[in-house]
Amino acid sequence: MYDNEKIIACPACKKIMKKVYVASAGMSVDICVDGCGGIYFDRNEFKRVDEQHEDITPILNEIENKTFNEVNNDFKRECPDCGAVMTRNYTSANLSIQIDVCYRCGGTFLDNQELQKIRAEFPTEEARNADFAKRLYHIFGQEYEARMKDNAQWIKESEKKRRKIIKDSIMRGVETFVNATTFGAYDKMKELLKSK
Ligand SMILES: [Zn+2]
Ligand SMILES: [Zn+2]
Repeated sequence: MYDNEKIIACPACKKIMKKVYVASAGMSVDICVDGCGGIYFDRNEFKRVDEQHEDITPILNEIENKTFNEVNNDFKRECPDCGAVMTRNYTSANLSIQIDVCYRCGGTFLDNQELQKIRAEFPTEEARNADFAKRLYHIFGQEYEARMKDNAQWIKESEKKRRKIIKDSIMRGVETFVNATTFGAYDKMKELLKSK
């Protein structure tokens, strides 16, 4: 596994981060113990600590019951490992927690408290994905029904046409969802989900 040995500076407040070994996951993470309390995960590290049964005691020991500096969320952050500009993404269809993701190296940065919130929101990754799929279905399901109605005659002609409608509807749902979560169309997405 890729486990960065570099000493890195916090992408949110620029303080030098502390390497903390998480024995249960067999990896070190970088924590901004002297600044904002943020945590940086190398590629594939975050998913080893995002479920409630995964032991994160070494991380909690560094951050719990401590006061950290406030950070400015207005500017885009640069990945502390590779320098690419990070993208702010929602962690679930609840659209309540946003984290910074590096699409170049796969790194993830969480602000103080976000790890605990993410773990509290869904017990497992499977539950998070199932919720996502359910919400996504609301979107493409409506699209699907509308298209089936509009194209009833055309669809009658073949099963292949019906399948095309399903495929297009799913793709539209995925596209809507990805746009909303990736590019921050937050309010629009929330409205869309509420109306279902
Ligand atoms: Zn920091
Ligand atoms: Zn990176």
